[in-house]
Amino acid sequence: MTLSKGCVLCYQGAKMVLFVTGRCHRSCWYCPLSSERKGNDVVFANERQINSPDQVIDMAESMSALGTGITGGEPLLCLDRVITYAKLLKEHFGQTHHIHLYTARAPTDAELAQMNGLVDEIRLHPPRECWDTILDTPYIRSAQQAKKMGFDIGIEVPALPGLELLIPALPYLDFLNINELEWGETNADEMRERGFELADGVHNAVSGAREWADELVKDKKVHWCASSFKDSVQLRERLKRIAENTARPFDEITDDGTVVYGVLELYPGTRDEVSALCTKKLDADSFIDCGDRIEMAWWLLTSDAGKIPGKKYVVERYPNGGMVVEVTPQ
Ligand code: SF4
Repeated sequence: MTLSKGCVLCYQGAKMVLFVTGRCHRSCWYCPLSSERKGNDVVFANERQINSPDQVIDMAESMSALGTGITGGEPLLCLDRVITYAKLLKEHFGQTHHIHLYTARAPTDAELAQMNGLVDEIRLHPPRECWDTILDTPYIRSAQQAKKMGFDIGIEVPALPGLELLIPALPYLDFLNINELEWGETNADEMRERGFELADGVHNAVSGAREWADELVKDKKVHWCASSFKDSVQLRERLKRIAENTARPFDEITDDGTVVYGVLELYPGTRDEVSALCTKKLDADSFIDCGDRIEMAWWLLTSDAGKIPGKKYVVERYPNGGMVVEVTPQ
């Protein structure tokens, strides 16, 4: 099997996902974008919304990123933004910072020339309606031109019935990735209308999607990317990298890459008393005073700090102030 360089880094959780816009010229019925992103001209680095280029670098540094995947929406609708971010990343991390770009358009020669030296790998997403005549589409010409210019070039599509129609495109490509079709809040009605069902109650994979890829995956250029892999390996490895760089001395890093810590929320009027008690009873690097609350090693809430007055709970969340996964009162 040929894995693209971008996929190799993704396996290590070393690829930052840079979502450059939610705008798109297409309206694929299977589009997996959330309502927060779909159609909106917003930028996200991993799960965090970005307001300035500096924040992109901060996010990449927080996970010791070795590369970036630029996605959308349709990134080529804001090519200037793509160029700005790609330049910034290459300048900051060096030319070896690997950048791949996903696009549902067939880039023109002029667009390819602008991206040359900044984007390393291009992943074309020809929409389902043109798979029957894939060799007659501009995607093949773009692929040939991109190859000539030195890009790694591939196709990346969701698993849909008819995948085998893409077999004739393989000689023009370095790789072809199939993403397992994913059920989401914005495409659920379209899925139901077409008679699709969820494979199980745990993941958002669609039943039968793997079989649609059976013919295509026989070729060694083809890679099947399961949605469970994205959740369990890619995300977990990325979170671990972020946690290792950003966890405080008292945060416990879990096997899933989340961090766990305890919170002591102060009752009104107890601030001085609590502050004095913490300083007296706890090691200096086992807690931090956040003003209205003290954050500390979670196990302290059930031992020494348990005797200090205040509302107590344990928090599990994505690292670096990310999404809260669970709050457990003590
Ligand atoms: S091209 Fe991609 S972003 Fe645009 S509508 Fe289709 S799936 Fe969604």
